[in-house]
Amino acid sequence: MDFLVLFSLYLALMLLGGGLICICWRTQYLNGLVQGGAQAISRVIPECLQRAVRRLLHYLFHTRNHVFVVLHLVLQGLVYAEYTWEVVGYCRELEFSPGPLLLPAVLLLVNLFFFALSCVTNPGTITKAHELSFLRVYEFDEVMFPKGARCPTCDLRKPARSKHCRVCNRCVHRFDHHCIWVNNCIGAWNARYFLFYLSTLTASAATVASISAAFLVQVAVFSDLYLESYIDDRGRSQVVDIVFLVQYLFLLFPRVVLLLGFVVVLSCLLGGYLCFQLYLAATNQTTNEWFRAGRARCRRCRHQAQPPPAEPRVFQNIYSHGVWSNLGEIFLPAALDKRKTK
Ligand SMILES: [Zn+2]
Ligand SMILES: [Zn+2]
Repeated sequence: MDFLVLFSLYLALMLLGGGLICICWRTQYLNGLVQGGAQAISRVIPECLQRAVRRLLHYLFHTRNHVFVVLHLVLQGLVYAEYTWEVVGYCRELEFSPGPLLLPAVLLLVNLFFFALSCVTNPGTITKAHELSFLRVYEFDEVMFPKGARCPTCDLRKPARSKHCRVCNRCVHRFDHHCIWVNNCIGAWNARYFLFYLSTLTASAATVASISAAFLVQVAVFSDLYLESYIDDRGRSQVVDIVFLVQYLFLLFPRVVLLLGFVVVLSCLLGGYLCFQLYLAATNQTTNEWFRAGRARCRRCRHQAQPPPAEPRVFQNIYSHGVWSNLGEIFLPAALDKRKTK
């Protein structure tokens, strides 16, 4: 099979897999699938290996550790090393304007700045001293956030929109999710840094992809190869097409083509996730609330076939007050500081 067809299949499968995981995750079907898969695998893998895998997975995903932070920096370093030493070098030989070539470096610096802020900023840890202040910030909706609920681990009254993070072992104000890539919770006080971090990461991946693609297109144009023809393995004369061109470029610049493939997939995944996070920000929902609302809706759909004795109350987003107000709540530090000192 041709390289381009294989790569397109790989890209389509990655995106399809990501989409399916999102749907399954929200509708609880993933738990069943994972449990079924784990049971099937446990029959063929020795017990000691299973224990080691379980311990490793627990360490990676259920404890605070720097593994994914280091992996993030290593991957970013590899992409930028390849971009700087090969793509920029060739682009300068082809007399590309230096401005666009420097753009990924500027985006990298801004990205690392917000990455560090997302890692080290307190997301809004709820303590005994600030418990009352946090309780006054958001009203209780009595569906998802009932008044009087307590966190059994922290022994604190749970403010509306807060959640106990099992990885960090603390209750977090306006809890969004725990991000393994920044090794921190995303909450009220660092959500804005996380959004800037995600935006600049997406922009830097898309910029590296665009410049690498522009370089390869320029090489193809300069070589005039697309005007040529070649003899295929059956001895027939064929006009050079896009598949042949990509394979030709892969033989000439294998690392640049692999880099392009990686950053294209990354840009699509990050772009999709960024759109999702911006949608949540604009509608004043957290990932935790969106996820729980989705599960509640699924339960309600199942109950419609066999109505329960008492109709459960439905979660409604009472925290949205218009797009600008919602975005201001996340991006304006003054609003958060004001709340902090209430
Ligand atoms: Zn707690
Ligand atoms: Zn956490």
